[in-house]
Amino acid sequence: MTIKNKEKELNKVAKEIESCKICKVGKIGKAVPGEGNADAKIVFLGEAPGKKEAESGKPFIGRAGKLLRSMLKELHIKDEDVFITSPVKYLPTYVTPTDADIEHGKKHLFKQLKIIEPEIIVLMGNTAVKAVLGTNSLGQKIYIAKEHGNIIKKDNLTYLITYHPAAPLYLPRLREELKKDFSKLKQFIKKPKV
Ligand code: URA
Repeated sequence: MTIKNKEKELNKVAKEIESCKICKVGKIGKAVPGEGNADAKIVFLGEAPGKKEAESGKPFIGRAGKLLRSMLKELHIKDEDVFITSPVKYLPTYVTPTDADIEHGKKHLFKQLKIIEPEIIVLMGNTAVKAVLGTNSLGQKIYIAKEHGNIIKKDNLTYLITYHPAAPLYLPRLREELKKDFSKLKQFIKKPKV
């Protein structure tokens, strides 16, 4: 698919999210479908929009987003290499998304991933890991503290497990861990997209 067609298809999914009645149950504010290059090599997945995001419709523009974007800059990962989104597309009134929110959001998310065809998807935090991987190959819960930095493959997609960028706001030593994990993305930017 050409990049123009990818943009068109992604816009269609964004429209579906904006008019999705199931997405809106228990949520407030604008839809936040995601933003970035429709042909990105890297997709970043968070949790759900926060207040600022729900006001503007743009992903990761609050404190966690500023940290994420500054770290990408430090690593010379450009906006054109990335698409940033979350499994849950609206701000839940109860803040932490439920399993039902995640299960439903996944339907929109996987449509987006199928269009973008990224080289790697960065799972930032528990919600992203739960949405995409569920459990590990032994059926056990995946602990970010134990498995961050791991690159794994599932159903023909490649994932990097890491912390949510809000984590270092509470535990500053995690900034270095997050940066170390992100540095593994460089290998995916260098090679041409297959
Ligand atoms: N946290 C997320 O997971 N996503 C956003 O868009 C903002 C904050």
